[in-house]
Amino acid sequence: MSQTQADALVFFGATGDLAYKKIFPALQALAKRGALNVPVVGVAKSGWGLDQLKARARDSVEKHGGLDADAFGRLSNLLRYVDGDYGDLAAFEQLRKELDGAKHPVHYLAIPPSVFELVFDQLQKSGCAEGARVVVEKPLGHDLASAQELNRTLHSIFKEEDIFRIDHYLGKNTVQNLLFFRFSNSFVEPIWKRQYVQSVQITMSENFGVQGRGSFYDHTGAIRDVVQNHLLQVLTNIAMEPPPGSETEILRDVRVMVLHGIRSLRPEDVVRGQFRGYRQEPGVSPDSTVETFVALRLFINSWRWRGVPFYIRAGKCLPNTVTEVLVKLYQPPAIFCDVAPPANYYRFRVTPDLQIAVGAYVKLPGADDQGEMQELLINHPEDPNEMGAYEELLGDALKGSNAHFARQDYVEESWRVVDSVLDNATPVHEYEPGSWGPAEADAIGPPGGWYNPK
Ligand code: NDP
Repeated sequence: MSQTQADALVFFGATGDLAYKKIFPALQALAKRGALNVPVVGVAKSGWGLDQLKARARDSVEKHGGLDADAFGRLSNLLRYVDGDYGDLAAFEQLRKELDGAKHPVHYLAIPPSVFELVFDQLQKSGCAEGARVVVEKPLGHDLASAQELNRTLHSIFKEEDIFRIDHYLGKNTVQNLLFFRFSNSFVEPIWKRQYVQSVQITMSENFGVQGRGSFYDHTGAIRDVVQNHLLQVLTNIAMEPPPGSETEILRDVRVMVLHGIRSLRPEDVVRGQFRGYRQEPGVSPDSTVETFVALRLFINSWRWRGVPFYIRAGKCLPNTVTEVLVKLYQPPAIFCDVAPPANYYRFRVTPDLQIAVGAYVKLPGADDQGEMQELLINHPEDPNEMGAYEELLGDALKGSNAHFARQDYVEESWRVVDSVLDNATPVHEYEPGSWGPAEADAIGPPGGWYNPK
């Protein structure tokens, strides 16, 4: 079915948190730019009717980005609702009726992974899987073995080209720009290698906790929640070889090659932390050892990167909310004074807005031998009219364009990298909310210390 325009969108989990926060606003945005003209069928088991779904959709867009009366009106006319437990085949027979002869529906599973298999099975039994495409939300598995099992199940029903695995970081303009910037400027690539790059740091900090999602988070933790997916995607965009073209499969091939070069993580390269107070969060086990912070160090065994440490840090209840990459170059020699200038660097901010900065040393007026570090800065503040990640990804799924979705081999390789350090493979250290994580993380950090984004 790939590259065929879909003629219906079904989204399972219509009453859920993700639908409320992201999917309805994305659907309204698609309707606004005329990219949504097919029936949109919400499915859940709350005992609702269509009017309640519409009210929920309205409330969702009002709270997340604002109501656009015209666009919402168009979305509202397209909405349908099917109520029923996913265990009940009758709900899927009802869905088939609502699809009203659609030949190429997209089924978007915004539901807990524990019910994925049940839904695949019912889609197949009811005939709803025929000619269809499926979109699955992370987490795509819980570890390597379960990711492989999920892929086997998916492939027993759908072809790989009809499976769209969402990692919303791939839909972010700022993440796509890492590649665009690297390969559209001839001053970057010649120095993008071990001879010039001293280290790479990727930091994803959040200044909030689990925000009422304790029972979800306590089965997940930082490694599964953001490292295995989002942060390894950022890393592969920073480290991949120049692709010989922009075709989807070529880009996916070069991305997965980066992961092939990473050895499975060893416990001594990982420090886990948990913020003080996490165990008192609703839904969290009082003796939980799940990490809300992780710091790790890895190497890519390739001609380009051998010997260059890549450091990743992610955590909740840190001082700010930002995701940044710092590519630090080697220090230049001392020519104008006895002490060498500080190392130059490239800094990429991927959330909340786009920044690309080059740290450069410039002469201070008056003094012949003194300088200061300044940044050459490209700054794109958040633009409310810019396509959001979910809008772009849902639009792509309807069109059948899978360029910004993860391929099976990538997902399995990323699990292979982290599989050996999941759960209690390493101790968890407590840290103060508002700090940069446990002091133990310093031991595996870069010489000179971690870079803390402002
Ligand atoms: P919620 O628990 O909020 O919602 C789950 C949805 O699935 C509800 O609509 C629920 O219906 C429905 N559901 C669950 N079991 C059944 C069943 N047996 N039969 C019928 N309906 C069922 O989950 P989220 O929206 O938070 O998450 C959904 C998916 O998206 C998960 O895989 C999650 O990991 C992923 N995700 C979520 C993010 C978020 O910010 N929330 C971010 C990124 C990914 P009902 O309400 O009627 O029970």
